[in-house]
Amino acid sequence: TDTSHIRNFSIVAHIDHGKSTISDRILELTHTVDERDMADQLLDTMDIERERGITIKSNAVRVVYDADDGESYQFNLIDTPGHVDFTYEVSRSLAACEGAVLVVDATQGVEAQTVSNATLAMNANLDIVPAINKIDLPSAHPEEVKKEIEEDLAIPADDAVLVSGKTGEGIHNLLEAIVYLVSPPKGDAKAPLKALILDSYFDEYRGVVATVRVFDGSIKKGDHLRMMALGDTFLCDGVGCKRPMETPLDELGVGEVGYVVTGLKDPALVKTGDTITYEDRPCAEACPGYHEAKPMVFTGLFPIDNKQYENLRDALEKLKVNDPSLIWAPETSVALGFGFRVGFLGLLHMEVVKERLEREFGLDLIATSPSVDYHVYKTDGEMVDITSPQDLPDVTRIDHIEEPYLKAKVIVPPDFMGAVMQLVIDHRGETSDMVYLSEKSVEIHFDIPLAELILDFFDQLKSRTKGYASLDYEIGDYRTSDLVKLDILLAGEEVDALSFIVPRDRAYDMARSLCDKLKEIIPRQQFEVPIQGAIGNKIIARSTVKAVRKDVLAKCYGGDISRKRKLLEKQKEGKKRMKSIGSVEVPQEAFLAVLKVD
Ligand code: GDP
Ligand code: MG
Repeated sequence: TDTSHIRNFSIVAHIDHGKSTISDRILELTHTVDERDMADQLLDTMDIERERGITIKSNAVRVVYDADDGESYQFNLIDTPGHVDFTYEVSRSLAACEGAVLVVDATQGVEAQTVSNATLAMNANLDIVPAINKIDLPSAHPEEVKKEIEEDLAIPADDAVLVSGKTGEGIHNLLEAIVYLVSPPKGDAKAPLKALILDSYFDEYRGVVATVRVFDGSIKKGDHLRMMALGDTFLCDGVGCKRPMETPLDELGVGEVGYVVTGLKDPALVKTGDTITYEDRPCAEACPGYHEAKPMVFTGLFPIDNKQYENLRDALEKLKVNDPSLIWAPETSVALGFGFRVGFLGLLHMEVVKERLEREFGLDLIATSPSVDYHVYKTDGEMVDITSPQDLPDVTRIDHIEEPYLKAKVIVPPDFMGAVMQLVIDHRGETSDMVYLSEKSVEIHFDIPLAELILDFFDQLKSRTKGYASLDYEIGDYRTSDLVKLDILLAGEEVDALSFIVPRDRAYDMARSLCDKLKEIIPRQQFEVPIQGAIGNKIIARSTVKAVRKDVLAKCYGGDISRKRKLLEKQKEGKKRMKSIGSVEVPQEAFLAVLKVD
């Protein structure tokens, strides 16, 4: 088998720089998709991806490119997510490629995740094809961006291709550059099979379908195969590739990317990063695999209807098939009943998972406010990991608490330097270093508690820098902080799902601001509802939701039936997201109110 006409590459970029749009243009130009079937962001197959215009899952698609040299090339194109929560997906994709197209927005230039993606690609020894996108825009300054690519990233930019994902200009040149700059895969067609699992999903009828990159050997239907790490064997029930619909093939050959129908009914048996080999003739060594992504943000997920508890567990297990970073443990709340404490890579990941659970599995869920993983040192010398405020031991038994810090960096025009430094200080951060990348951008390094970042740091960063700042971070160390548990009482009852761990010197302000927010969020009930903030037994803030007669029809004079019905339906909708706590109806937003506190 000849691999000289195969090119496997990922497209990486800072978010919104145009990966998905460029992928669409490539599908079009290679006639992979009929023009009439062309929808925007074709590779973002999940509803959430389309609605939010973001890519969450990597996606491997095969296209055939008829190059100017008269030869046909097989391109396996792997679209990747750009948001920092999903960096682990990017590194998974890169492990399957020889090349990376590094997209940089011609109006924005190099940003924080351009740097981190370029670093990932260089560390994976990939051939990098820089593409400067959005050259159709009047504010594009491609020559300066070229300079940034050379100076900030140390990537030669002579070869940079100027493109517009919007108009299609330059995409042909990009495809030619991929042919010439990206190496063909190497591999031994006669060696025992060695295929890396990039991703998988569960299909009712066919069991788990795994996306793989074949490094050595080949796979056919009927082959007896084995998962090297987990050890399970299975009969291959078919192979194929996505174009972008699943297309069956006779064989997945050496160097190729495609899918394998495993027939396995238990998603837990197919692990991303595992290697597939022949049952009777295994390869000598498995692929390096991936280091596990570590969850950083934890939240309680509770079904509004407690009868959905088992369904929630099933749904989490199914989601884990193609989202191996997801972890959870049962959690019980006096207020919310039985649920799970779920770990996520970040806030966006959390929102996405919650939304998928609700949409794809029809669950109605309450999410409680996110927390980080605290190390609590007790007076008896024991250290406990706490991911839920309600698990915090009694104050008298706590010696000290440590919380996770991030090593973060922001790239911003020098004009906003002061604003960023102030924001960092306001969020208990400490700047450590500042580097001018060019006259137009400065990189600020700082350490900051993760708990601050998951509150509203990012939104404020965007607004205080008019959207110019870009942020990137990695996990740092644990440090001691003076933290206390802030409790909220509704109608005199403490609501465990509304407790938060906060810095002691900010507890008063936060309690006051939280009580005010909750007063706006909790609808008026038949009776007055006092809201109180407390540390231990001490009440430190209060507000009140006034009583009201909740007769929505009173407003409808006359007999307009359809209007009445609409109002009733609206009221029902509103109810769906409510949870009765004691005698108080509390909407979902209340549990996340702390995210909105200033
Ligand atoms: P991704 O986050 O990197 O996948 O970026 P998208 O492909 O979703 O693009 C982000 C936004 O930029 C979308 O609104 C696109 O329509 C827009 N966009 C992408 N490429 C171009 C381009 O070449 N020119 C212009 N004017 N807009 C573009
Ligand atoms: Mg995208």
